[in-house]
Amino acid sequence: MSETPYSYDAPASQALFDRAATVTPGGVNSPVRAFRAVGGTPRFMVSGRGPYLTDADGREYVDLVCSWGPMILGHSHPEVIAAVQDAVSRGTSFGTPGEGEVALAEEMVERIEPLEQVRLVSSGTEATMSAIRLARGFTRRTKVIKFAGCYHGHVDSLLAAAGSGVATFALPDTPGVTGAQAGDTIVLPYNDLEAVHEAFHRHPGEIACVITEASPGNMGVVPPRPGFNQGLKDACSKNGALYVSDEVMTGFRTSRAGWYGIDGVRPDLMTFGKVMGGGFPAAAFGGRADVMAHLAPAGPVYQAGTLSGNPIATAAGLAQLRLLDQAAYDKVDAVSATVQSLVTEALTKEGVAHRLQNASNMFSVFFTDREVRDYEDAKRQESFRFTAFFHSMLAQGVYLPPSSFESWFVSTAHDDQAVQKIADALPAAARAAAEAQA
Ligand code: PLP
Repeated sequence: MSETPYSYDAPASQALFDRAATVTPGGVNSPVRAFRAVGGTPRFMVSGRGPYLTDADGREYVDLVCSWGPMILGHSHPEVIAAVQDAVSRGTSFGTPGEGEVALAEEMVERIEPLEQVRLVSSGTEATMSAIRLARGFTRRTKVIKFAGCYHGHVDSLLAAAGSGVATFALPDTPGVTGAQAGDTIVLPYNDLEAVHEAFHRHPGEIACVITEASPGNMGVVPPRPGFNQGLKDACSKNGALYVSDEVMTGFRTSRAGWYGIDGVRPDLMTFGKVMGGGFPAAAFGGRADVMAHLAPAGPVYQAGTLSGNPIATAAGLAQLRLLDQAAYDKVDAVSATVQSLVTEALTKEGVAHRLQNASNMFSVFFTDREVRDYEDAKRQESFRFTAFFHSMLAQGVYLPPSSFESWFVSTAHDDQAVQKIADALPAAARAAAEAQA
């Protein structure tokens, strides 16, 4: 068993975790699933229905992770499942073009005006990696600006993290990423336009693109300050660089047209994943047609994928997007607002210093009394309080992201009963947060 004080009795999950650890590094296929930030036994889920997940021990949880964003209609939505079953009955992969991928691309292009053309891939990582390659190929420049605390998947050059302050060349953050791969990445503090202007000033004619999360959710939810994204776009336009908006998390979640539908800042390139795949591995990048024309086979920048535009994934994604009308977004926004106010109410009652930050229906709680504007602010929170809060919620049947640096997600399936379960769990969790010791 785990040695943390938080090994709640979950024997079936623990047995699976032990088995997994012998055949898979750390027992998981994506690190945050291992509960390292909060301790205890990661729950192995066996099924999901609506707002609920059921684990291997037969315990049910209200799910506030929603597969890290994709499941905006809840789990096992009947129409998505039907679309998948219909697609799978006709075969699983052809390695040829098919109508499903055209229909999905059309639906995306119709929703997002600057998205003139789109290329489908299988993961958000592939999408950002390909967008960066295309930006470099198009501009014939090498350097890329990214922001500390923004996550764009595990692309070598984008895993670089910053020292604090002004523009620096990043050192590789992860063994296996070479200095050469990281050396063309300039990491800047988020929400700091001055730093962006200075970087352009120091590297004239060298910067291919600025990539940013449209509204970051990977250091917890830290929205752009008013004018920040527009400032990035303007700096890019002025300096001949491309503005790349990573909407893998926000795309088709924060509104019908994602974060673009909220701030209206027109990217040159955009990346997508999560919601557009309906719970399957589908992702995309796209944007200006004149830039996309540089992509193979139309142009010289190579990019490809055996399973790109897979018929099952595109059927699931298309079914999900077609169900996401304004009423669906209104519902998700309303549930999100309710859960946010319940969290604040419970923590306030226990006198726990916190900041509830949101970007449309994405939100997270920081255990600090100061506004969080960048990664340095986010790191100043009292994460030990989150750990206590998380485990209390888990023990009471509410599944939160197992880290204080993540967004929480709700869905159209989070009905009154699910919200009541959250409300019932919050007072004890808030008390646990109040009593937690560093
Ligand atoms: N970009 C953003 C903003 C993300 O949140 C993520 C994943 O969380 C990615 C890219 C990478 O996507 P994937 O995990 O599908 O590779």
